[in-house]
Amino acid sequence: MCIFCKIVNKEIPSNPVLESDDFLAFHDLNPKAPVHILVIPKIHVESFNEVSGEIMEKMTPFIQEVAKEMGVEHSGYRLITNIGANGGQEVKHLHYHLLGGAKLKWGHFADADPKDFI
Ligand code: 5GP
Ligand code: ZN
Repeated sequence: MCIFCKIVNKEIPSNPVLESDDFLAFHDLNPKAPVHILVIPKIHVESFNEVSGEIMEKMTPFIQEVAKEMGVEHSGYRLITNIGANGGQEVKHLHYHLLGGAKLKWGHFADADPKDFI
């Protein structure tokens, strides 16, 4: 069982902020911003590549609710989902990073020279 399935099953503790029958939102263990929440479906879906439109249709209003709950819906926030090796996905259970609480920088090429991709 993957680490986020264990969090859903409460085998591993987390610091939840919002829960529904289908989704869970909890604080990231290693926050990269003043607000850094992970939002996951309770069922195991490996990544955005595999998620159905039906799940996303339900997940969208849940994520919007998390933004409200964290008080960032007006100040703004960033929503990221990493997919696979090049996307930097470490946990193979679909999750959205909701980041906010400060003006965020944009540094996705921090480890690589963009010229290398041309
Ligand atoms: P990824 O790199 O897969 O997009 O992001 C995985 C995220 O999960 C990382 O930001 C990491 O800090 C977080 N994380 C990994 N293990 C745990 C855990 O056991 N509990 C919590 N709350 N976050 C975790
Ligand atoms: Zn899982």
